[in-house]
Amino acid sequence: MHHVIEETLNQLQTQYPYQKEYLQAAKEILTSFDPIVERDPRLEKYQIIQRFVIPDRIIHFKVCWRDDKGNVQVNNGFRVQFNNAIGPYKGGLRFHKSVNESILKFLGLEQVLKNSLTTLPMGGGKGGSDFDPHGKSDSEVMSFCQAFMNELYKYIGEFTDVPAGDIGVGAREVGYLYGQYRKLVDRNDGVLTGKGLSFGGSLIRPEATGYGLCYFTKNALEKMNNTSFEGKNVSISGSGNVATFAADKVMQFGGKVLAMSDSDGVIYDKNGIDLKAVKEIKEGRRGRIREYLENHKDALFLDDPHKIWTIDADIALPCATQNEINEEDAKTLLKNGIIAVCEGANMPSTNEAAKLFIDNKIIYGPAKASNAGGVAVSGLEMSQNSMRYNWSREEVDAKLYSIMTNIFDNIYATAKEFNNPHNLLQGANIYGFKKVSEAMIAQGVN
Ligand code: NDP
Repeated sequence: MHHVIEETLNQLQTQYPYQKEYLQAAKEILTSFDPIVERDPRLEKYQIIQRFVIPDRIIHFKVCWRDDKGNVQVNNGFRVQFNNAIGPYKGGLRFHKSVNESILKFLGLEQVLKNSLTTLPMGGGKGGSDFDPHGKSDSEVMSFCQAFMNELYKYIGEFTDVPAGDIGVGAREVGYLYGQYRKLVDRNDGVLTGKGLSFGGSLIRPEATGYGLCYFTKNALEKMNNTSFEGKNVSISGSGNVATFAADKVMQFGGKVLAMSDSDGVIYDKNGIDLKAVKEIKEGRRGRIREYLENHKDALFLDDPHKIWTIDADIALPCATQNEINEEDAKTLLKNGIIAVCEGANMPSTNEAAKLFIDNKIIYGPAKASNAGGVAVSGLEMSQNSMRYNWSREEVDAKLYSIMTNIFDNIYATAKEFNNPHNLLQGANIYGFKKVSEAMIAQGVN
């Protein structure tokens, strides 16, 4: 390993020993830069590796709000502004009880490369709160969102930082957040993406991450394996925004979705998952996925989310959360003859699992490439807001397809250039880093 990479990783380890997700992402990304640090002496001369892996700033604030009983509640709010060398900070907000600085730094770092891969002018950031939306009433969610925005609005703007949704932040939350922003600044500048269609949202934005994942996977199946989704059995973890729209597109492409999950466990339906029922349970009544069994007598419930990877499938699309595929899960998938694992969630595979997929030469689509469709359409939403214009559903979908195809082609070509065509992870890291590092060098030391 190049000494610059080794020293940087050691320094991070010393400074942030408890930030395991951030260290995991930094290790995965920096080690893949080994050949380019050798090749390009400017990276060492201008300390680009160190400057790249440390966020520009982290904003940490207190969020105080009242629940329905009138009790005062206090949560932590964060915005990690990671790198804006190629465009305004851009990245989602996550509301989940697990949210902390380490998770947001890992997500922000990944986001910098992901946004670069889209080829749109967007830097990387991420934010959120340890607020847990489960079991909260609509008015509690609104109170929280308004209190969160009372702080966040000071740091965001259409040319500085443009947040979006992520886990726990969907159309409802974006609506409440945007409403409070507009009230506070008295400006309708579209500063959040994922907005409702009636106030500046883009068609296809809700579908974009899941659809984009399938467009990426379709390209990979065709170009690496000369095959397609047609007739394939697919396991999709999660049952939120990314998972449900991925399932929708898999079915449109002729695949059969055998299993989906939530944090309680897995539903397995050998007849193929009834997606309408899943959406009704999870989106319609915000219920638990095990309720699927009430009306699907052939289906089974497995009470551990990891069990989804024991189901015999051809393609796995992890769309739930980080580190949901560990080394053991990866071994099980490989033993069962999986041909492709393409990531809808961020960093769903541990570094050990990802290495196994790459070493075994299956198709492994790394998140920063395969799930970039969401932020790509967020970029298109920003363009439409600036133009005061809306593209049709077909136009946005065609642009999304073309962006996902380009991402696959670019990272596959880069993986081949570095003599490892199955290492799309290295291809994605290097291709994404190229533009960011060029911009950082060109803009001097600042
Ligand atoms: P949602 O909140 O809409 O859905 C998350 C889903 O994952 C829920 O069904 C949740 O179930 C489930 N889940 C959470 N933890 C686990 C677990 N351990 N095992 C199985 N299921 C679990 O989030 P999104 O769909 O938006 O996000 C999913 C992933 O995709 C995240 O990693 C996110 O960062 C990534 N992503 C999202 C983008 C977007 O546009 N939304 C863009 C790019 C990436 P439960 O109801 O039990 O909580």
